[in-house]
Order: sequence, then structure tokens, then C-alpha cells
Amino acid sequence: MSCLFCRIIEGNIPSTAVYQDEQCYAFNDIDPKAPVHVLVIPRRHIASLAHAEPGDEALLGRLLAVAAEIARQKALGNGYRVTISTGRDGGQTVEHLHLHLLGGRPMGWPPG
Ligand code: AMP
Ligand code: ZN
Repeated sequence: MSCLFCRIIEGNIPSTAVYQDEQCYAFNDIDPKAPVHVLVIPRRHIASLAHAEPGDEALLGRLLAVAAEIARQKALGNGYRVTISTGRDGGQTVEHLHLHLLGGRPMGWPPG
């Protein structure tokens, strides 16, 4: 049984695509916490950042570069935030690595 985000990549659960290439997929968060709230995920299932391995370093860099490119496309010139919830204390609710790209409003610190 594949996970929620694997099913989104497979097209079995609908999503609004923002960007895609051979390694990455990006789509709008279903419950946006900012005017721009995009999730950037690897096509290959990696359960969390804590599950990434040394051979995944280029892919991790690619995910960050994709987030920055989407931020440029969405004209987030005033800034934005990229977060990776990891594990229980990190507030991760979907066990497929994902970057949150949040923008379009000032962000508070620290996060909740
Ligand atoms: P996290 O809680 O950091 O693991 O982030 C999971 C994110 O996935 C949350 O922001 C959810 O709103 C989002 N999410 C859950 N289901 C879907 C879905 N079907 N389509 C788009 N985003 C989703
Ligand atoms: Zn998955």
C-alpha cells in the first residue's frame, strides 16, 4: 500500500501541480497556511529527512533549488520560508519527505 503522496504522484489522488520534473513534484497544499503554500516532494518515496541517505544529497539539493525556483515564479521577492517537518516532534503528519514553501505574508518566529 503506497503512501498518500506516492498516490498523488501516481495520479490516483488529485492535486494541483505547480512544478514537475523527473525527480520532483510540487503541488498546492490542500490546507494552505499562507497565500502561497506549496509542497515539494521527491518522486521516490523517502519517509522523512531522517530517512535520507548519503546518496540522496543531490536530490535534497534539487528539492531546495526547486523550492527557490517556484518562489521566483510566484514573485515572492519579499521572502518566504521553507520548512521540513520531521518525525513526531517535528510535527510531520505525512510520512513522505516534503518541503513546505510558504510565502505571501510575513512569517513569525519561532514556529509553533
Ligand atoms: P506535515 O504536517 O508537515 O507532514 O505536512 C503535511 C501537509 O500535507 C499538510 O500541510 C497538509 O495540509 C498536506 N496535505 C495532506 N493531504 C493533502 C492532499 N491530499 N493534497 C495536498 N496537501 C495535502
Ligand atoms: Zn510516499
